Amino acid sequence: MATAQDLLSTVFGFDAFRPGQEEIVSAVAAGRNTLAIMPTGGGKSLCFQLPALMRDGVTVVISPLIALMRDQVRGLTEAGVAAGALTSGNTEDETREVFAALDAGTLKLLYMAPERLAAGGTLTLLRRIGVGLIAVDEAHCVSQWGHDFRPDYLRIGELRRALNVPLAAFTATADAETRDEIVARLFDGAAPETFLRGFDRPNIHLAFSPKDKPRQQILAFAAARRGQSGIVYCATRAKTETLAAALTEAGHTACAYHGGMEAGPRRDVEARFQQEDGLIVVATVAFGMGVDKPDIRWVAHADLPKSIEGYYQEIGRAGRDGAPAETLTLYGADDIRLRRAQIDESPAPPERRAADHARLNALLGLAEAPGCRRQTLLGYFGEAVPEPCGHCDLCGSPPDRFDGTEAVRKALSAMLRTGESFGTGHLVDILTGTATEKVRARGHDSLPTFGVGREFDRRGWQAVFRQMMGRDLVRPDPERHGALRMMEAARPILKGEATIELRRDTIAAATARPAVKA
Ligand code: ADP
Ligand code: ZN
Repeated sequence: MATAQDLLSTVFGFDAFRPGQEEIVSAVAAGRNTLAIMPTGGGKSLCFQLPALMRDGVTVVISPLIALMRDQVRGLTEAGVAAGALTSGNTEDETREVFAALDAGTLKLLYMAPERLAAGGTLTLLRRIGVGLIAVDEAHCVSQWGHDFRPDYLRIGELRRALNVPLAAFTATADAETRDEIVARLFDGAAPETFLRGFDRPNIHLAFSPKDKPRQQILAFAAARRGQSGIVYCATRAKTETLAAALTEAGHTACAYHGGMEAGPRRDVEARFQQEDGLIVVATVAFGMGVDKPDIRWVAHADLPKSIEGYYQEIGRAGRDGAPAETLTLYGADDIRLRRAQIDESPAPPERRAADHARLNALLGLAEAPGCRRQTLLGYFGEAVPEPCGHCDLCGSPPDRFDGTEAVRKALSAMLRTGESFGTGHLVDILTGTATEKVRARGHDSLPTFGVGREFDRRGWQAVFRQMMGRDLVRPDPERHGALRMMEAARPILKGEATIELRRDTIAAATARPAVKA
């Protein structure tokens, strides 16, 4: 049977789990009653969609929002998963198709509005089709004290008893009282396995560094941690070999690991790493899934990871025992080009490639974050960190910053004057006054913003946009080929009600002429 990790990439097209997902997926797939509290946007749907594919029978998903159900069914269908919904928004044809799939026994996920549970015949239907799991989205709707109370949610407990199958409940908002109510009403008071951890791993020190002499940088990092177990992640198989050789040369015990090796030698490396102290494994991302070593003291990325999710998952292998662990992620212009090319050349459909670019952008935003990396990282996953963490390179030595309000306003204005319909490349052309064919064809060379950004060169402006993405002022829209959209947080800056500081180093390093006024 396909593993969760296989399905994650083959069906959903993601290279790594987001924080919390892996644990929840394995509990739900194993058929344990679960309650998971995750921030909005944290990726809850995957936590029942993926187990639905690993389990026998149909997974019934109760969700209060018809639009959301339709979105999910569409997404799953596009990914080749048999899913359907029974809602009041269905056309007759849609309903007929769902019933046909149920009768044929091919449907894996059946979405249902809670109201449907009250309809006659629903329980008989669900008994007949062989339900293997009930998933409840927005589980706080069962709480009478909340704002979102949905009386029909009270029928879910009944349904669970009648079908006698595991239930997985999800919500983004659950204070202690709401949680108790969920447990009482959905699980009859028998405590489910509950996931309410924050995503932070406070013992892990976070650091990024632009590539300078990358091999020297990795050797120096390892030298300062001689005798400790660590992992160095590389983008290519060839590089794992050369870097492992360089580390061995420098007197470390190191070996390479990648997907091109035979199963035997791979298992040997895994076993050695598990047992030996102080082994360094230089690997591609193929290494790590089966590795459960609690005392990995450091993780270094010799090349930029694929996405912000990949980054989190890979550094998260360090310090599982809770003792201090350190990380270093190197990144350079070549990495960015390589990762972009990998995405563009992948056989994935265009929306998925656009989403991959967006996740890469988020990682670049983290690489060039203006302040605390933990705030930026966890903010991306929806978890607010009120104070700078004091345990990352940027908290340790804050980067030099300048008032970037003017630059950000110019960038926003270029976006808005072109209808938020373009990606960074075209916007940078407008700002720097580069009259490309595309710029001329759309008449963008006569915009008031054309050429107002001559203080930075192209790469400088790209750095400005990366920082804006890192702060979630703008987001590339995966549905529209990465066209940048302005986020609410940018409005006060645009209106002159707020100012913003940008990091000087990455912009200035990219810009040949002295770029910034203090
Ligand atoms: P919510 O928790 O708000 O229900 P969703 O399940 O809609 O969130 O997920 C939010 C977004 O995160 C979606 O665009 C989804 O495609 C994306 N996502 C979920 N899991 C992953 C992952 N492991 N890697 C990358 N993106 C993911
Ligand atoms: Zn910090």
